[in-house]
Amino acid sequence: MASPEHSIDTLARRGLMFILSSPSGAGKTTISRMLLDADDEIMLSVSVTTRPPREGEIDGVHYHFVDDAEFDRLVEEDDFYEWAHVFGHRYGTPKGRIRSALKEGQDFLFDIDWQGTQQLYQKDQQDVVRVFILPPSIVELRRRLESRAQDSAAVIDARMERARSEISHWDAYDYVVINDDMQACFAKVREILDAERMKRQRQTGLIPFVRELMS
Ligand code: 5GP
Repeated sequence: MASPEHSIDTLARRGLMFILSSPSGAGKTTISRMLLDADDEIMLSVSVTTRPPREGEIDGVHYHFVDDAEFDRLVEEDDFYEWAHVFGHRYGTPKGRIRSALKEGQDFLFDIDWQGTQQLYQKDQQDVVRVFILPPSIVELRRRLESRAQDSAAVIDARMERARSEISHWDAYDYVVINDDMQACFAKVREILDAERMKRQRQTGLIPFVRELMS
């Protein structure tokens, strides 16, 4: 019989790269925060950006805020998994310790756009899980962007324009969730994460476990 320390929940497994993308205003940031609060096994991959911090944003927590020269240096030193131009600024995923941590079973959450998703997927298909969050309607998306009151009308128009183009990439994702209700959307995202963790090829501890079962 399997001993208790070999319970299915403690078997060694490989971590995954959980990507959440959506047009801004579809609730991705809120869902990301809820996930990070509720789940100890996943941590945020903090991106590097040349965009100035918004009110309340903390360097090293929400982003690593850098100037153009520093971003250039990171690109030259091949320190990014991927990077992209978004809204006139540059954003990139630093390699950091991701690869070695994945081996140890650490999961990472990525809040990146479709370009970054495509690049990350090309580099590491086995570890990447791609989830796209859609707003329930375009009217609701605009309402949510306006209610943030952080951005000017011109910025909101630009974000609406970009939202349409971001939405057009929905079919390059493994899962698509419509965010009509935040709690329901969050529950679905967690179910996706839980099921992906159970995939056979991620459960590296299964071979010794089954060997023991059969001995
Ligand atoms: P915001 O400026 O509103 O925080 O983010 C703008 C957009 O940049 C979002 O769609 C976000 O997903 C994307 N983004 C943030 N970090 C990265 C990154 O490291 N790489 C890529 N490709 N996109 C990113």
